[in-house]
Amino acid sequence: MKLGTKLIHAGVAPDPSTGAIMTPIFQTSTYVQSAPGEHKGYEYARTQNPTRDALQNALAAIEGGTHGICFGSGLAATDGILKLLQPGDEVIATNDLYGGTYRIFTKVFERYGIKFRFIGLQDASNLEAHITAQTKLIWLETPTNPLLNIIDIAACAEIARQKGILLCVDNTFASPYLQNPLELGADIVVHSATKYLGGHSDVVHGAVIVKDEELAKQLYFIQNSCGAVPGPQDCFLVLRGIKTLHVRMQRHCENGEAIAQFLRNHPRVARVYWPGFTDHPNHNIARKQMRGFGGMMSFTLKDDNLAAANRILSGTHLFSLAESLGGVESLIGHPASMTHASIPREERIKNGLADSLIRLSVGIEDASDLIEDLNNAIG
Ligand SMILES: *Cc1c(COP(=O)(O)O)cnc(C)c1O
Repeated sequence: MKLGTKLIHAGVAPDPSTGAIMTPIFQTSTYVQSAPGEHKGYEYARTQNPTRDALQNALAAIEGGTHGICFGSGLAATDGILKLLQPGDEVIATNDLYGGTYRIFTKVFERYGIKFRFIGLQDASNLEAHITAQTKLIWLETPTNPLLNIIDIAACAEIARQKGILLCVDNTFASPYLQNPLELGADIVVHSATKYLGGHSDVVHGAVIVKDEELAKQLYFIQNSCGAVPGPQDCFLVLRGIKTLHVRMQRHCENGEAIAQFLRNHPRVARVYWPGFTDHPNHNIARKQMRGFGGMMSFTLKDDNLAAANRILSGTHLFSLAESLGGVESLIGHPASMTHASIPREERIKNGLADSLIRLSVGIEDASDLIEDLNNAIG
């Protein structure tokens, strides 16, 4: 079955009691047993919920895994994965991670005796020098935020496999429409379903997808034991969102390309970061592992200062100034003062995050209106 069909049909079936074509929101905390221990497979709703089951099965199918495990947010999903580890274990992660992931690693799990090393992974062979006998997990994001770097998933997976280390890929930016890390050799995929999977900026949700029975068992155990489960209404919203992922992503990609080209030709724009350009440093890897280049991009101004950036950030009308990404509506953001404000300026600049760097999550509106909006704001 092809992805577009899976997105609509995988995991869901008409409700057996009524024939309702949409998976009902099972808003219940418990299930009545006909005799002690005799039940229909559902005992208590932290452990099992039919709305969540449908979503978990759908997610497993669309990522090419065997099991989906849902959590109350993307970071709750990350928390669940880290709980696979023991004190003394080491994690190697890319150095341009989502800020919240960096925070849970360094501010929460370091306190429990887990060590994190942050390295550049644009050349996967960098991994070799940092792997020790304690390394149990490699964690990467691709494309990265906000500079849209691309990391070679298959090359990292090959090194991880040889050394018996788990590879986890945060697939939030690409979504399963553009990239399937499990098929490229990763062991674990994590999503903030808050973004493209949900797609409508109306839910916070997270998911883990795996293809190994034992790993799935451990993650279900953590999901149930620690209890960071999503509510059934949120599961319903994500299930509803993914039914249109393919049509939304198609438009995100088309609009993304149109806007990236427009920005690149604008006399006030210094540089555009978008993996679809043939001169993007990792374009060939993007072409190899992704089916399109998406609607996320960043750009800098020739007039590289905060005031020039601020004029644009407060000058758009269709692009709303907000954190987050992946919804149908276009968003504009400023890493230096928003998502990456906690990083000291010197370090931020060293990592390529210029004062004038502006990030766009291009939505699915009409591209010509979006271009006009940006053109008016850039001036
Ligand atoms: C938003 C985001 C997260 C965190 O997800 P929440 O649902 O906000 O907890 C993790 N990784 C990436 C790449 C994200 O964009």
